[in-house]
Amino acid sequence: MPADAPRPGDGAPVAAPTARVFFALWPTPAVATQLHQLARKAAASDARIMRADTLHLTLAFIGDVAVDRLPEVEAVGDQTAWPRCTLQLDQLGHWPHNQILWAGSQSPPDALAQLADELSSGLQAIGIRLAARPFVPHVTLARRCRHAQVKAFAPIEWAVEGGVLAVSHRDATGARYEMCRRWSAA
Ligand code: ATP
Ligand code: MG
Repeated sequence: MPADAPRPGDGAPVAAPTARVFFALWPTPAVATQLHQLARKAAASDARIMRADTLHLTLAFIGDVAVDRLPEVEAVGDQTAWPRCTLQLDQLGHWPHNQILWAGSQSPPDALAQLADELSSGLQAIGIRLAARPFVPHVTLARRCRHAQVKAFAPIEWAVEGGVLAVSHRDATGARYEMCRRWSAA
């Protein structure tokens, strides 16, 4: 070992690198464009509208995980039966507590809740426990939105054909997402 190399016990422990990750459905560009247009119509004028390429539906939010555990997390995605289903986005919602404007479905396919459950169980099996929150399938359209301006709109049909594991990089301007892996429905 060179004389100036760090030795065990020298200085502060070095934290293992982590990544902030989540399983999600990512819309096709055509669906994302429709959602983005809806956001521009429906959000308050001073809201922060999500860029079309950032729009997604979170299935399982994992949060910070050691980078060297990512292969285990990816294996959960590999073992999951990614369904093919149609999600009819026909509902616009606004949560005043966090100022989020979102799009959802009045009748989400059962396959979606089953998928979220399967991911959650798979994660639990590798020792990752998700926050005990009910799964509310939604796409965040805008943030810092104090009210929604439209209630009625033409439903957007999303043909779900797979999902992703995304990494979230956050800074002062918001989050940027990077696709780590993609899975296609069988
Ligand atoms: P920012 O937090 O910087 O405003 P963001 O919420 O888009 O941006 P993340 O916090 O990394 O970025 O979240 C990634 C995705 O996971 C988002 O869809 C977010 O709504 C969802 N999410 C974040 N925290 C949780 C949580 N505790 N439970 C369920 N979903 C979550
Ligand atoms: Mg967040």
